Amino acid sequence: IKQGGKSAVQFYSRELKESSLRRMELEAALRDAIDNGEFELFLQPILDLDTGKISQAEALIRWRRPGIGLIFPDEFIPIAEKSGLIIAIGKWVIQEASRLLAVLHQQDQFIKLSLNLSPSQVSDRSLLGFIQRHIEANHVDPTYLELELTENVLVNDFERINHFLSEVRKMGVSVAIDDFGTGYSSLSYLPKLPIDFIKIDRSFIGELIDSDSNRAIVLAILAMANSLKLGVIAEGVEVESQKAFLREHHCQSAQGYLFSRPVPFDEFCKLLRG
Ligand code: C2E
Ligand code: CA
Ligand code: CA
Ligand code: CA
Repeated sequence: IKQGGKSAVQFYSRELKESSLRRMELEAALRDAIDNGEFELFLQPILDLDTGKISQAEALIRWRRPGIGLIFPDEFIPIAEKSGLIIAIGKWVIQEASRLLAVLHQQDQFIKLSLNLSPSQVSDRSLLGFIQRHIEANHVDPTYLELELTENVLVNDFERINHFLSEVRKMGVSVAIDDFGTGYSSLSYLPKLPIDFIKIDRSFIGELIDSDSNRAIVLAILAMANSLKLGVIAEGVEVESQKAFLREHHCQSAQGYLFSRPVPFDEFCKLLRG
């Protein structure tokens, strides 16, 4: 027993050491990744379910590590958040999204582009000015820019978040609540905050067809959004039956592998041209 216990401990600490080494290695590489131009924004189309056309897109960050390949945000965004690097990475995302939006404008493509904000970015007092400067510098129409925030951000400090969102609105930029239905917040904040869209989390959509309770949740969210005059985007639509259900219940927009995975900008432009 003693020996078994010892080897289990050794095994455990080796695992821990490897994962913290990997973390440190990633963190160091992340510091250089911005300067080395290793980040890229992929775009995932969002479709209007009535017309079947692309009405907007979500920008999702990817990290192309030389010699290693594409790294997905679930692996490095948490590290960036813990280390504070998310502030710089988040600024790069805003800068790059503004640039891509300007390129789309030049191609006479007027579709909305949304980007993801981490909670700590919302606490950064220089963020609003930064967004404003990049909108102006790129001559983009701010009504084509949208910020995605998760629900949990909204309940932190109501007054501050209310001020933040009002300022975003004043700039002409819109706001979407991401992963809606998965947070810990009460619903009472919804009518009080200047919000434009909610994105139904893909955990409710994925098993939509199999689960009565998920169907009930989606219908409740659609009804609520309708009465609060909020737009709705269903995330994670993978199969035709999910799309059919959403259409039938007047969900305005949807996003998911059924339509397209997130793709590099050039490929997205091809999708737009049809
Ligand atoms: P999210 O904001 O909820 O983004 C949607 C995620 O769902 C994306 O993963 C997308 O590729 C994936 N997805 C889209 N359609 C489907 C589908 O039909 N089925 C399934 N199974 N998945 C689908 P991705 O790109 O790996 O991003 C993961 C998360 O990383 C994002 O979740 C977001 O929280 C974060 N993230 C991505 N880009 C950024 C960024 O620029 N800044 C910040 N702060 N976070 C980001
Ligand atoms: Ca998102
Ligand atoms: Ca989401
Ligand atoms: Ca998510």
